[in-house]
Amino acid sequence: MRNTQQDLLGYTRPELESLLVELGEKPWRAVQVLKWLHHRFATDFEEMTDISKVLRSSFSEIAEIHEPEVLLEQQSADGTRKWLIKSRSGGAVEMVFIPEENRGTLCVSSQVGCALDCSFCSTGKQGFNSDLTAGEIVGQLRIAVKSLAAAYPDRNRVVTNVVFMGMGEPLLNFDNVLAATQIMMDDLGYGISKRKVTISTAGVVPGIRKLADHTDASLAISLHAPNNELRNQLVPINRKYPIESLLSACQEYAGRLGGKRTITVEYTLLEGVNDQPAHAAELARVLKDLPCKINLIPFNSFPGSEYRRPAPFRVSAFQDRLIRAGYGAMVRTTRGDDIDAACGQLVGNVADRTNRQERYRKIAGG
Ligand code: SAH
Repeated sequence: MRNTQQDLLGYTRPELESLLVELGEKPWRAVQVLKWLHHRFATDFEEMTDISKVLRSSFSEIAEIHEPEVLLEQQSADGTRKWLIKSRSGGAVEMVFIPEENRGTLCVSSQVGCALDCSFCSTGKQGFNSDLTAGEIVGQLRIAVKSLAAAYPDRNRVVTNVVFMGMGEPLLNFDNVLAATQIMMDDLGYGISKRKVTISTAGVVPGIRKLADHTDASLAISLHAPNNELRNQLVPINRKYPIESLLSACQEYAGRLGGKRTITVEYTLLEGVNDQPAHAAELARVLKDLPCKINLIPFNSFPGSEYRRPAPFRVSAFQDRLIRAGYGAMVRTTRGDDIDAACGQLVGNVADRTNRQERYRKIAGG
């Protein structure tokens, strides 16, 4: 269920139009309001000088503009930035910006913690606390756009890509994530192209199927293993939605997107676990019907983790094998190591972790 909140940062254009109609206003006023919220970063309705005093005061009675509070901002030697952002629920999440020559990628969180407990992910070890609201997800982008404008004065757009690869499983916070992506892709919001907003999932198959009816954002899956036996150990939700059902949902999604668009397959390489030549060969076989590109992520360690990162020659050998089999396969270089901003290292502050069991029982049915 979509959180019931009147934080206007989480209102899509159609939602804002209906709210305006309820308030006895013309729906097209949404254009002005959205620009105030996402282009001019208004913090108070009183700033919205081109809308009537009456509307400003109705807004103040029923709604708010709640930009989440930044608790900490860190910058890595390589330019990567990480923010710790407070959630209304009491916990905190992390968000990371990764600058590259021609693009800037913002990695946002969708939940405080995560219920899925993948064996190699530090967020999973934190347990699950709560969903972020749509406004809290959009708020992350708003904070980044605002704060990066000053750091990159010569770039007309600093954040070109958004990936839901921070904390949480986006498809288990479906309605809020969907609303947030719509605002991110709307020209009156942040105008990010649908190809450049990527929702990443550990494999919530019903969520993927439902997503296809509502959006044409890009999709990434966290596969990490080429067979069910291994994937059951690494990504426990695989016991509920095995590889075949995951890949068939992805094929359908890719078919709906049409054109030349592909699904991104993420594969974290764990030494001696899933990094052998036979795994690469099996992966190449299993993905043969999916229009995809493969992102290899050498494991990033965190305190208490039992896995190790494979030696660079193993990573290249794995990549070469996939390339020879005809796949686009990239190795994701580790960024922001010195501030623990790499994949799987985001922990935020998940104060109450007790929600995991109940939530997990609901999803995994066991
Ligand atoms: N829950 C979603 C969003 C998180 S994305 C999903 O699973 O897709 C974060 C990505 O980093 C996922 O592919 C995840 O599997 C990967 N990852 C997690 N922990 C990691 C680690 N310690 N080292 C490298 N990659 C990791």
